[in-house]
Amino acid sequence: MIFTLGQYIIDIDIERTRAFYREHGVSFAEICGCSDCINYVKAIKTAPPSVLDFFDSLGVDLCKAPEMFNVIGDYDANGLIYYEGFFHLVGEILEGEDAWETGEVREDGSYTEHVKESCLHQLAPNFQIAFSHKENLLEEGFPDPHIQMEVFFHLPWILNENK
Ligand SMILES: [Zn+2]
Repeated sequence: MIFTLGQYIIDIDIERTRAFYREHGVSFAEICGCSDCINYVKAIKTAPPSVLDFFDSLGVDLCKAPEMFNVIGDYDANGLIYYEGFFHLVGEILEGEDAWETGEVREDGSYTEHVKESCLHQLAPNFQIAFSHKENLLEEGFPDPHIQMEVFFHLPWILNENK
């Protein structure tokens, strides 16, 4: 199914994506168990229905990201926690720039990377996405062809314990 999202036109095989998330993968919070991850699993349920419906329409289980981390430091001006992560989808990017661009290249050839501001697509306030051809921590057996959706969420801290 074709989705137009900001500058992106993506073609997603929803059934194969949904089947993968249903049958494979374990919630990263179950694996990690740290309070940041446990908070994410609870806090993501407070996302606007339009955001939850969007991920569901793609077949993605929001609790089964290969990685989700919160940037150390952490509360934004609104007192929300900033989470970054990514999900893989079965499909292709038909149009749109890869989200990542190379920043500083050091003498030893290593380099920094960042997501281009112009690539971010806002689903709702505090929920942004972008797409890339990267395959970070690609799950074993993830079907081809696949793309990576980068996600940027600002979520409340709702665990009783302090962060
Ligand atoms: Zn964790």
